Amino acid sequence: MADGIRDNNTRVDAVVIGAGFGGLYATYRLREQGMKVQAFEAGDGVGGTWYWNRYPGARVDSQSYVYQYWFSDDILNKWNWSERFPSQPEVERYLNFVADECDLRKHYAFETRVTEATYHKETGRWTVVTDKDERYDTQFLVACTGGLSAPSLPDIPGIDDFQGELLHTARWPKEGIDVSDKRVGVIGTGATGIQVIQSLAPLAKHLTVFQRTPTFAIPMRNPEFDDAKRAELKAKYPELKQRVFDTFTGFAFDFQDKDWYSMSDEERREMMEEIWRDGSLSFWVGTCKEVFFDPEVSKQFGEFVAEKIRARVNDPETADKLIPKDHGFGTRRIPLETKYFEAYNRDTVDLVDIRANPIQKITAHGVQTAEGEVPLDTLIFATGFDAGTGAMNRIDIRGRTGELLRDLWERNVRTTMGLQVHGFPNLFTTMAPLAPASAFCNVPTCLQHQVDWISECIRYVREQGKQVIEPTEALEQQWVQHHDELADHTIVMSTASWYVKRNGDGTRRMLSYLGGVNTYRQTCDDIAAKNYEGFAIS
Ligand code: NAP
Repeated sequence: MADGIRDNNTRVDAVVIGAGFGGLYATYRLREQGMKVQAFEAGDGVGGTWYWNRYPGARVDSQSYVYQYWFSDDILNKWNWSERFPSQPEVERYLNFVADECDLRKHYAFETRVTEATYHKETGRWTVVTDKDERYDTQFLVACTGGLSAPSLPDIPGIDDFQGELLHTARWPKEGIDVSDKRVGVIGTGATGIQVIQSLAPLAKHLTVFQRTPTFAIPMRNPEFDDAKRAELKAKYPELKQRVFDTFTGFAFDFQDKDWYSMSDEERREMMEEIWRDGSLSFWVGTCKEVFFDPEVSKQFGEFVAEKIRARVNDPETADKLIPKDHGFGTRRIPLETKYFEAYNRDTVDLVDIRANPIQKITAHGVQTAEGEVPLDTLIFATGFDAGTGAMNRIDIRGRTGELLRDLWERNVRTTMGLQVHGFPNLFTTMAPLAPASAFCNVPTCLQHQVDWISECIRYVREQGKQVIEPTEALEQQWVQHHDELADHTIVMSTASWYVKRNGDGTRRMLSYLGGVNTYRQTCDDIAAKNYEGFAIS
């Protein structure tokens, strides 16, 4: 070809991008519908998030028994979870097991990144180009690219000068690292930073944590499962597989029935203590809904957690630095932790508050702060992701009018229910903005619902003898408005975090739909039941 890209005569029904939870399931569902599927994955194996995030301490914050696929009783029976909150290697093994059981690998080109996707309105088909300079022709494009998969490295001067080992948690070497004789620095104290810090603190010769914003966190209760416990849980799977789709956040638990103001101080304290002991995210999304709407309730939850932190950190000044002051409890992601706060009781761990003592630059041998240079052998960035839109924006996706999706989203982050985007026919997305999947959800629940919806939608289009489906502008506008109205009522919206994106005109948009997984599912399913009302099918 003149442009150097090989046309390998690959004409398929669907291209799936990604081999994480969503991509594997989409590949499975579409193949089971008799479609010819070509799937791509940038990594050399399956797992998505659980392939890339192999940093020390990486572990899931959802209970294993709801962090799984429900589509196959055979897989549910055969797979045995070892504990309540499994670590990265176990989740990665699980996804490999599913890929093998369902014979999914043969559909994938691994170590292959999709670089371009262009829609042709004359044919109603997409051309997909990869970094192997190959071109594919597909009717449907299903992007399961993940909402937290494009790592973000801050623009700190001197980053290229560092002569030690520099790592981002989401690009961790498979062979791991040995820190026993290393002076290690960690920048970032979100869910990832917390796991890395608590894991490396006992191992490193010295650990310096550079903290910009402290994080409220809940102690994880993580019992191992024996055969009796596994049998007990398996007996509940039929019930759980319904339950997760009916709760607000796709977990097995839901918000309390009682509202905050109907309880006495003693009842509130009792409720908080009881749910705290559960050691799970139910302390965040299983207490009172008011925590997301009412600054006073969020403040009281924050004071409760601050008290717990103070009781665990020996030095009161350090404890104070670890307690968030600029945001309320619940307005940012609450991670689970294990001895995270105790890490700061070690002589070998220092906490640098970089708001008081800012990082000026990275040097050849460490980090230069306003108060002096911190010498380091290893510098770890636990600085998160270009959330929600990052992975899609790194692909040149051109829709019906020739506009790049990236340019549209830079102006205005919008989708129709996180499933499609007006102007981009036959492109389907999972974990995209404006659905619960992008943040407020036990992710596998949402991904399974979205993939089920997408595959049923594609089935419908094909059965009707049609070629193309696209949400109308009116439906998308209606969804965006509804989404914004719900988000604007919350205090999450007024807090800075990866949950909120900025539109080109300076307005802010919540990534995640905040109407609840249960309501979202019902809305999507109602639209499907009305033969995709609001979508143009031709
Ligand atoms: P994150 O929540 O975005 O945290 C990034 C951290 O890096 C924050 O502390 C941030 O500080 C800091 N940071 C960013 N840029 C910086 C800079 N220029 N200088 C100094 N500090 C900087 O990212 P994450 O921890 O990777 O977590 C992302 C999400 O992944 C989580 O919220 C969660 O949903 C998911 N996750 C889940 C699990 C689990 O299930 N167990 C584990 C890990 C991650 P600021 O807060 O001040 O911006």
